[in-house]
Amino acid sequence: MQKPDILIVGAGINGLVAANYLQKNGCNVTMMDRSRRVGGACVSEDMNYGNISQSYALGASVLGLMQDFVFEETGLAHKLETFVPSHPKLIHFPNDPIVTRIHRDPKDLDIELAKKWGEKGDVEGFRHDEGRIIKFLQRGYREACPPTLEAARSELGEVLTDLWIKGDAKTLLDHYFTSERSKMYMAMTVSESGPVSLEDPYSAFTLPVMDSGSIFDGYYGHVKGGIWKVTEALSHINHELGVKTHLSSQVIEVDSKKGRVLFTRDGKENHVNFDYLIMGTDPLTAHKLVGNEADIKSAKEKKYLGSSGKLNMMFKNPIQWKDATNLSDTDAAFRFIFGVETLEEFENATLKVTDPNFHYVPGYMQIYCEGGAQRQMQNHETYDRLAVFFKNFALSEKGDELPHIEEEAKQKVLEYVNNPEDCIWTRLLTPRDLQSLFYFPGGNLDHTMLTGGQTYFDRNFSSDPENYFYRFGDKENVYLCGAGTYPCGSVAGTPGYMCSQQLLKVIDK
Ligand SMILES: Cc1cc2nc3c(=O)[nH]c(=O)nc-3n(C[C@H](O)[C@H](O)[C@H](O)COP(=O)(O)OP(=O)(O)OC[C@H]3O[C@@H](n4cnc5c(N)ncnc54)[C@H](O)[C@@H]3O)c2cc1C
Repeated sequence: MQKPDILIVGAGINGLVAANYLQKNGCNVTMMDRSRRVGGACVSEDMNYGNISQSYALGASVLGLMQDFVFEETGLAHKLETFVPSHPKLIHFPNDPIVTRIHRDPKDLDIELAKKWGEKGDVEGFRHDEGRIIKFLQRGYREACPPTLEAARSELGEVLTDLWIKGDAKTLLDHYFTSERSKMYMAMTVSESGPVSLEDPYSAFTLPVMDSGSIFDGYYGHVKGGIWKVTEALSHINHELGVKTHLSSQVIEVDSKKGRVLFTRDGKENHVNFDYLIMGTDPLTAHKLVGNEADIKSAKEKKYLGSSGKLNMMFKNPIQWKDATNLSDTDAAFRFIFGVETLEEFENATLKVTDPNFHYVPGYMQIYCEGGAQRQMQNHETYDRLAVFFKNFALSEKGDELPHIEEEAKQKVLEYVNNPEDCIWTRLLTPRDLQSLFYFPGGNLDHTMLTGGQTYFDRNFSSDPENYFYRFGDKENVYLCGAGTYPCGSVAGTPGYMCSQQLLKVIDK
């Protein structure tokens, strides 16, 4: 039988993972990306200072949601070195000089939360029940079997399904925790994708999803060199397998009936034919290229808004943290700084960005110590670097239009550092920047918001999701596997993997 020609539009992590599995399983894969490099939102940029250039993560920074089998089976595990801090995460609340340590050991954590935050709830019950949901989700990933509520009910029971999948995050958190701070710490996950209310249906589900990576057993870690090595290495592996990649090639028209794509490269128009097309892009781009007017209209009605900003920072000497411990990986610990005191303030700040009068409202900062992690992997770079992922931004302004917010955020981080004078460079990116840099429709890391109607079995664009979850509309030869599809965005490639398995089944029939 002749090998089917598969064209994948979008060489981000999802397109790359799909290409890897399809090429290895007898397909003839070609990838096309409008950008001049592979990686999508998982790429580096260079900072130049004192005649020295140093790379940093422009988009994604940390790895954690990938499945271990994807890491192994794609060949990435043999190409990359990784490091996961075992140091407790360090949490700071406003006007509170005492740091809280999120220990890995459950007993130590229970004692810490009780002591520092007055937590009296069922922390162990939360861990146990979340573990059950995660197991259920991970089996679905491996079997490339998208979820149904019936399957969830039959495996987890009505109570857990209602609480953890269909329910809202507020009810879930109130069920297990008593302290505002525990709830806020957990609630960060819910609003990562955008201004999602803790009372939104299905918002509880984001918690187990975001903890369902198996590469580091639910934890997050770093890649030697930087996370962009994941997409670079996967592209090299794919090339060796025979995948052809065309960069600086923007697809401008798709004729699914004829199996033909029109694209531009170097200002010239060209055609390429396909048996199957996979859109590894955001859903709006896919609809504009492949859908009819009604499809485009309904795609435009989806919720896309993201509210995450990112501040990259460089230091001329290693950062000296005021909260450092004597553990060997203390300068690689994950750090979190809250700008709000109560859950109500947290919720108000999260939702404020939908008000056109606000450009930025402080919520929380997640600090990824990239330089410190590199040193743990014996990668000694000239400048120390931090990636600070923080909330809450509207879609209105670009980072360089908000110098006062960049300065405010920088000073907030430097409050926790003993050598602030060593900070030599910063760069702020807002959702507006993410929209233009990475073509994210609403500046959202997940391409779309993880909100009611856009999670779980709703996170697809198929006219027959029960049988063909990743199929695009009713088109038998077009699939969609970008971050807007189940389970979500991140440098994981789970939608790319699941989509490839579904397509292979169709091809084998
Ligand atoms: C600032 C930021 C921080 C993040 N932090 C993390 C993190 O720490 N950890 C984590 O796991 N995830 C993180 N994420 C999320 C993660 O990076 C994304 O969810 C993921 O990379 C999306 O991958 P994808 O393959 O679905 O899509 P993308 O990476 O968006 O790839 C889509 C590709 O399609 C191409 N394309 C679009 N239209 C066309 C066209 N017409 N023709 C040809 N090509 C086209 C684009 O050029 C792009 O390369 C972050 C994202 C950002 C922006």
